[in-house]
Amino acid sequence: MAQKNLSELSKIQQACDDYDPNSMLVDQAKQYIAQFLQPIAETELVELKQALDRVTAEAIVSPFNVPDFDNSAMDGYAYRHQDGIASHSIGLDIAGTALAGAASMAPVQPKTCVRIMTGAVIPEGADTVIPQELVNVELGKIHFSATLPRGANIRRAGEDIQKDALVFSAGRCLQPADIGLLASLGIAEIRVYRKLKVAFFSTGDELLELHQPLQAGKIYDSNRYTLFAMLQKLNVDISDLGNVPDQPARLESTLLQAAQQHDVVITSGGVSVGEADYMKQLLAQHGQVLFWKIAMKPGRPLAYGKIGAAHYFGLPGNPVAVMVTFYQFVKDALEILMGQSTSMRVPNLRVRLAEPLKRAKGRKEFQRGIVFQDTSGEWLVKSTGNQSSGVLSSMAYANCLIVLDEDCAAVDAGQWVNIQLLKGLY
Ligand code: AMP
Ligand code: MG
Repeated sequence: MAQKNLSELSKIQQACDDYDPNSMLVDQAKQYIAQFLQPIAETELVELKQALDRVTAEAIVSPFNVPDFDNSAMDGYAYRHQDGIASHSIGLDIAGTALAGAASMAPVQPKTCVRIMTGAVIPEGADTVIPQELVNVELGKIHFSATLPRGANIRRAGEDIQKDALVFSAGRCLQPADIGLLASLGIAEIRVYRKLKVAFFSTGDELLELHQPLQAGKIYDSNRYTLFAMLQKLNVDISDLGNVPDQPARLESTLLQAAQQHDVVITSGGVSVGEADYMKQLLAQHGQVLFWKIAMKPGRPLAYGKIGAAHYFGLPGNPVAVMVTFYQFVKDALEILMGQSTSMRVPNLRVRLAEPLKRAKGRKEFQRGIVFQDTSGEWLVKSTGNQSSGVLSSMAYANCLIVLDEDCAAVDAGQWVNIQLLKGLY
């Protein structure tokens, strides 16, 4: 795919061989968008407890070995490996006790041992720890018949992380284990990219606010709530700009103000055929925006562009399409803008279908699925049922998306399909 800038793309529209806005492949659209994404440059220092889900802005190198000293992995006795046989017959004198947190004890002499607690420094001379359960203690001596390899039950200095090792590169979105690992390095503050500022609003005269009574022909605005929740999970600064009626002047002022004050503006609704025309005009005046029909289901119409320095995503109005297009296009893009490296992407998995799936070739489909364990313990996947893009409950009851490629026709029970899990342990 040749690199083209947005204005070139918006001018050529249908004229170019690999660019057809009316039949964009999901991956192709992602690549087009990726060309325009530059991570934000500003950084800030945050306290470690505030660093969850923030993206590291610099590499972290270990200032020392973790652990910093050889220490015991068990409560037991530290001894010199060659004395192990002697313990069985004559026993080893217990010369003292090594407690966790204490400085190193005097060296262990031949035919002696030290009672040692988990985490205590291994005294010089000792090279093996026998767990206390395997030992008989009599008259100040230990006896044991177990033969352990030299070095057993000792955690070596640097076995977790070596001094000067690269712990994290810049671009890591910090997770709970990372926070703990940084603490083990004594790092109390960390430099991260500033939070991304994301604004969004809904469009549509049919939309009601939640406090309004339900009226004939109207629906509650659910997209703003799903968008808010999806953005919350990405730990960005969120501005909910409400619902803007289908009036060009109102749309225009909201869009322009949002674009001035945010890194990203997201709208839902108003980009489908029939409605797109005035959004197109509006956006053409103030920025460069591409309107695509994506070869995907759900989520056909999608707009992407720049309004000033802000990135603009025009998502379809249907509630499931909003979520699916958010996860396929917006999430990745936001992560790049937040400075996150692409190596942290969630993997796709392959699971067998419990029931056949109907579908027609042509568009990439993201069916809502449930991964479950059958009686034999195998993990299988089935559809949540009605796959209409307005049926938001299909998304709520799903725990995964079943991804069916453009050229894949109906799929039989027992066949392998790709899934994207909606939630992991973290
Ligand atoms: P549109 O893309 O604006 O033509 O909308 C497509 C469908 O999604 C219509 O049935 C809309 O009523 C519905 N829709 C649009 N915006 C929202 C919203 N914020 N919440 C719930 N449904 C919506
Ligand atoms: Mg609409």
